Amino acid sequence: STDELKLLLLEDISQGAVEAFSKQGFQVDHFSKAWSEDELVEKIGQYHAIGIRSKTKITERVIKAASKLLVIGCFCIGTNQVDLETAAKAGIPVFNSPFSNSRSVAELVVCEIIALSRQLFDRAHEMKNGVWNKVSKNCWEIRGKTLGIIGYGHIGSQLSVLAESFGMRVLFYDVINLMPLGSARQVETLDDLLSSSDFVTLHVPELPETMNMISRAQLARMRKGSYLINNARGRVVDVPSLIEALQNGHLAGAALDVYPAEPGGNGQPFDDQLNAFASTLRSLSNVILTPHIGGSTEEAQRMIGEEVSIALTRYLNAGSTLGSVNFPEVDLRAILAEQRNYIRICYVHKNQPGVLLEVNSILSPFNVEKQYSDSKGDIAYLMADIADVTREDIETLRERINNTRANVLT
Ligand code: NAD
Repeated sequence: STDELKLLLLEDISQGAVEAFSKQGFQVDHFSKAWSEDELVEKIGQYHAIGIRSKTKITERVIKAASKLLVIGCFCIGTNQVDLETAAKAGIPVFNSPFSNSRSVAELVVCEIIALSRQLFDRAHEMKNGVWNKVSKNCWEIRGKTLGIIGYGHIGSQLSVLAESFGMRVLFYDVINLMPLGSARQVETLDDLLSSSDFVTLHVPELPETMNMISRAQLARMRKGSYLINNARGRVVDVPSLIEALQNGHLAGAALDVYPAEPGGNGQPFDDQLNAFASTLRSLSNVILTPHIGGSTEEAQRMIGEEVSIALTRYLNAGSTLGSVNFPEVDLRAILAEQRNYIRICYVHKNQPGVLLEVNSILSPFNVEKQYSDSKGDIAYLMADIADVTREDIETLRERINNTRANVLT
């Protein structure tokens, strides 16, 4: 039952999340700072769940000390701060919140499309320096222009709807076939998209296949006077080639929110030591540079709190690993209150032949209503709902399953 479960929330995770967990009956300890590895090793043994942001490092040493830990929640997008593989081997799923800021990114792109089209940042910058420079040459409305979206996922598809409401035509390119929203149209090849768009915007993840996917050859295929926008990941665009296309006037502007290397914190310089081309980029006209703020809004922060709390609660209450980053994703519909004498078995085990046979022979005398299993690497996860069980049955089952060969993970 949840009131026996202790939760540790670090790094000032939103009050909303603290309240939601307390309401569910969890005992919550919350602190505003990140804890050091030593502090974690000393104290984590008493907790069943931990919520962190990007500064708390969950290392192998911490996981080894976390004898009761069932689940880790990263109240942020990235999960690099957690040793995911060691966590999985210890049977601990890790959850994060990858899509809570999709709308924020899409809205920023809409802003950038208009700002590029009107040379807005150059004019605003001149005014800040006391220079009046009224220009209409090469400034355009976005109505009737074509937006080419590369990667039609959470952000790309959201942007598609917003852009159409401004009267833009929308094309998209994606490696999978997707249902176009509104009047958008999927094109067959990246080249088709590049040669038909006035604005090209990137919304693909960083993968080996997407590294430098916009390089000199692709920029050459873009229309003369078109614009490139990158809010995805810095390495997706080959920046020296982009600089060349801007300097020779082939492109009319660009907006970048992400870079191959990014400063570690606020106040640190964005200079040539970090990215060899930084000062050239900074000097180009109609180039908008922002410090990776695509998803940085109050709304996105709040959604992160909600999304991760829900994932943690669903795992602790019902065993669902849907959306976990390091675990097989397994889910069954929640057991209803009227389904008395039902139990749910959640069994994390080594992914090796013969385990399902062994477990199912233990379950076979019972009325198994539903069962689902999946594996990811060395880890497998089985969920089974069993009807008509008595208290003694539960103890017998627990003992037998705990004694299976594949049970000990590390
Ligand atoms: P998503 O996973 O929902 O969508 C990505 C889409 O790209 C998918 O439809 C996928 O099929 C497609 N894709 C993958 N490889 C491709 C390829 N080689 N060519 C064409 N399409 C390809 O992701 P999302 O939530 O829309 O986010 C996209 C990216 O934006 C993220 O991976 C992240 O790197 C970045 N992002 C940046 C910020 C920011 O602050 N600037 C915030 C959130 C996300």
